[in-house]
Amino acid sequence: MTSYLKTTPNADGFFGDYGGAMLPPPLIPHFKEIREAYAKLSVSPEFLDELRLIRKHFQGRPTPISHLKNLSRICGGAQIYAKREDLNHTGAHKLNHCMAEGLLAKYMGKTKLMAETGAGQHGVALATAAAYFGMECEIHMGEIDIAKEAPNVTRMKLLGATVVPVGHGGRSLKEAVDSAFEAYVPQADTAFFAIGSVVGPHPFPMMVRDFQHVVGIEARDQFHEMTGGLPDMVAACVGGGSNAMGLFSGFIDDENVSLHGVEPMGTSSKLGEHAATISFGVDGDIHGFHTLLLVDENGDPAPVHTIASGLDYPGVGPEHAHLSKTGRVNYTSANDKEALAAFYALSRHEGIIPALESAHAVAFAMREAKANPGKSILFNLSGRGDKDIDYVTETFGFGG
Ligand SMILES: *Cc1c(COP(=O)(O)O)cnc(C)c1O
Repeated sequence: MTSYLKTTPNADGFFGDYGGAMLPPPLIPHFKEIREAYAKLSVSPEFLDELRLIRKHFQGRPTPISHLKNLSRICGGAQIYAKREDLNHTGAHKLNHCMAEGLLAKYMGKTKLMAETGAGQHGVALATAAAYFGMECEIHMGEIDIAKEAPNVTRMKLLGATVVPVGHGGRSLKEAVDSAFEAYVPQADTAFFAIGSVVGPHPFPMMVRDFQHVVGIEARDQFHEMTGGLPDMVAACVGGGSNAMGLFSGFIDDENVSLHGVEPMGTSSKLGEHAATISFGVDGDIHGFHTLLLVDENGDPAPVHTIASGLDYPGVGPEHAHLSKTGRVNYTSANDKEALAAFYALSRHEGIIPALESAHAVAFAMREAKANPGKSILFNLSGRGDKDIDYVTETFGFGG
């Protein structure tokens, strides 16, 4: 059998019907340059060795797997395990692809990293990579998000990044993407645009998946070493889908392991009150690729809501749209309330405060544990929740 990762996507960046690269003409040569550089470097021992050393000595990899014995006992049924990406440097999985994108940019001779950011998590991870590689960093961010996410703005500035406020339209993530892309076009000779998830034009969905693959490789080995077998179920929250693709990619050729993507159901299943793209989306184009999309009555990307700002994207990585269609991955959801209950439960019973994004995967594990006695569930704890504690306690208190 040829392994899934070697055959997907195809040469044009399509995962089945989804993906591709729809680019404004001035960017076509620059994306060709990125595709060619990645094709060369992804098989270069020098590049891979340097990345391996960065992962070990700077990021602190491998991150462990924890057997959550208290939570397993309380839920009753399955044994629950967490892959601890919250222990990766900067506290989330995003640094896995940001360090690799920075290294790629360095090998390409670029001197600057650029991106947009919503809640600021991608901006902080990219600013960290830029500082490490001695590069400039320019992060575009909506004014509303700048006001809401002050600590992350402070972090980016301390790390040496320039934060460009975006003051038009909704002054949030969508405008920040447009602004960052516009600023990138005239600088594309010397700057690298680092996309923050398995989204955007080819080769980013494939490349970011490959850079997150380390999570799945480690997790499969570690789980086997701990238990002598493989987990029955593997789960992760899905925003754009990078932490999920990282973990899933380690198990995708293991037919007996079921894979579960957990989307945010927000406050209800009404359009505008959730961000469950695969559950409710239709085929469409966003930010240069073809995927499933939540749209309003005019066919434009719809407003979305979730308690976890890192999951609020009306599209989803094209590979997830494909894996949903083929049935290899089951996509389900957890709502704000369930994520919040899971946030409190993991803090109180395991001594781990999870990011609200990751809490959606915790909620899934808690729910499924009850229904699957004797089985094992491994989920991705994609990030730590320090960034969320003020919001949660000021809005909802300290939990039962
Ligand atoms: C950004 C973020 C996510 C969502 O991004 P994916 O690309 O779907 O993984 C999930 N968890 C944390 C902690 C994040 O910061």
